[in-house]
Amino acid sequence: MKIAVLREHADGERRVAATPETARKFVALGAAVAIEAGAGIAASYADRAYAEAGATVADRAATLADADIILGVQGPDPAGLAGAAQGAWIVAGLNPFGDRARIDAYAAAGYEALAMEFMPRITRAQSMDILSSQSNLAGYKAVLDAASEYGRAFPMMMTAAGTVSAAKAFVMGVGVAGLQAIATARRLGAQVSATDVRAATREQIQSLGAKPIFVEAVAGIEGEGTGGYAGEMSEEYKAAQAELVSGHIAKQDIVITTALIPGRPAPRLISDAQVASMKPGSVIVDLAVEQGGNVEGAVAGEIVERHGVRIIGHRNMASRLPADASALFSRNLYNFLSTFWDKDAGRPVLDAEIGDAVRLTRDGQIVNSRLLA
Ligand code: NAD
Repeated sequence: MKIAVLREHADGERRVAATPETARKFVALGAAVAIEAGAGIAASYADRAYAEAGATVADRAATLADADIILGVQGPDPAGLAGAAQGAWIVAGLNPFGDRARIDAYAAAGYEALAMEFMPRITRAQSMDILSSQSNLAGYKAVLDAASEYGRAFPMMMTAAGTVSAAKAFVMGVGVAGLQAIATARRLGAQVSATDVRAATREQIQSLGAKPIFVEAVAGIEGEGTGGYAGEMSEEYKAAQAELVSGHIAKQDIVITTALIPGRPAPRLISDAQVASMKPGSVIVDLAVEQGGNVEGAVAGEIVERHGVRIIGHRNMASRLPADASALFSRNLYNFLSTFWDKDAGRPVLDAEIGDAVRLTRDGQIVNSRLLA
């Protein structure tokens, strides 16, 4: 059983799918691990450290030769996988709803593509969940980016020269990224408020010492979709939310938006008029910018200024902390494959609950119900 770890090629991607720590653990399971030279450099993991962990460091062709499992952070180019074993697994974040052509190509080439984003949200799979591990870091980094663009301080400071007042931060969307954004903004000393469509988040917001801002006017809204994710809200709810947020947003210095709905464009939460209502010098971070954006005017990969407000639209926020993001991502991959490791077979054998959830392609076909629906 050979596991190959390729150098990432996507623009701005600095993470790597295995660290020396996980390479060592795969070797301990009995796998041969090959790393493409330089794969970990951008995340501060040197080739030498992989070699010391028992992996082979090689060029791309030698890394891929007869590989049974190819690990990636993002999906590798299907055209660049020549030499891998027939039916090899590709285990990575495959962007299944956004990158359909690539997944069709994996199917056509006979690879078994396993999308880590489709890991079910069940207790035993928590340690395998790349969305959680990466969102947590993204929520943290979003606040740091906001703080560095903001021309004022976050905490209240009483100095001999006078008092600096605390920044007011508002977090919209309180999933994994939003919770970490709340905690980080609080640690920096901001006054924090937050909102979500899922009623269950109210208590979580309060437990972090922030103020919940919720739509009360529309009865019977829970906002809970399937698997702990949000669903699309009614027009009535959206109108009530927009009104509530309008009053609140005008008083904020920092807004972090993280709202996502799986398989759909991100909900639009902030209009240009609402941006214009904010004080000059305020900062917005749109963590949903690559899924269509929560904020009107946000541009993926750019910091734009609208009405004196800076709107940060960095892509791939987790990759801005490449060492930790890689460490957690690669542990997610290791936890996944090692949980299913069959000692007799010398390879992982997936069960139906998790296997059917993450498997996109097999035997030349798309096999995942979420892609066939
Ligand atoms: P996500 O990234 O899909 O969305 C981010 C947040 O945006 C969610 O809280 C969502 O409710 C919110 N949102 C969507 N539309 C909105 C709107 N119009 N206005 C305001 N907010 C909106 O969510 P996530 O971070 O993946 O987490 C979702 C839930 O799943 C959380 O409760 C999390 O704790 C849970 N979770 C469970 C597991 C597990 O059990 N294995 C793993 C990860 C997450």
